Amino acid sequence: MIDIVNKVTSLKNLYSKLESAAPTLPLATRAEDIIPGEGSPDAKIMFIGEAPGYYETVQRRPFVGKSGQLFRATLREIGLTDAEVYISNIVKARPPDNRDPLPAEIFAYKPYLNQEIEIIQPQLICTLGRYSMAKFLPDVRISQVHGRLHKVNWHHQLVFVLPMFHPAAALRAPKVKDDFVADFKKLPKILEWLANQAESAELQHQIEETLL
Ligand code: URA
Repeated sequence: MIDIVNKVTSLKNLYSKLESAAPTLPLATRAEDIIPGEGSPDAKIMFIGEAPGYYETVQRRPFVGKSGQLFRATLREIGLTDAEVYISNIVKARPPDNRDPLPAEIFAYKPYLNQEIEIIQPQLICTLGRYSMAKFLPDVRISQVHGRLHKVNWHHQLVFVLPMFHPAAALRAPKVKDDFVADFKKLPKILEWLANQAESAELQHQIEETLL
């Protein structure tokens, strides 16, 4: 278990490494092009979006533009603050004209995102949109699996993943927005269920230790 102080230091080191690597990474040339993840290093939920857009590069913060506002407002609607969760992206610099990230770009930023997940160790990963979903659930369609909790074997560990629509898609279509909000409303129950799972696993562990 990494404690919170270590998590803060590890995240700082990770982003310093990313900023130093900026000239060698696609979409970035300077350290300032890298948009860091933000939120609680101890968050139970980690949201992974696609890529920063214009407003994100101005503020150097993820999800602060139009779709970010919808995302953060929906989070508040279910009683969570953005400081309680951790928010990041699959690529850490802005694609020109906000185009979709290319496979080579996703690949180049992958080791950094993987380390970010390892540091945060969230109980639940919510993917926003099909690109971050494909990291854990390749070969599925977002319209068929959104809002359904998946247990995924990722890097030899089991992680819980909840695929969600991207808020930009929700802004484009009222039906997607309804689904986007409905999926968010499932989060409190899912978190409660995950906490119970963790508690039973801890109890099981204690029982096994006592029996040894
Ligand atoms: N869209 C994303 O996927 N990420 C952001 O940070 C902003 C918009």
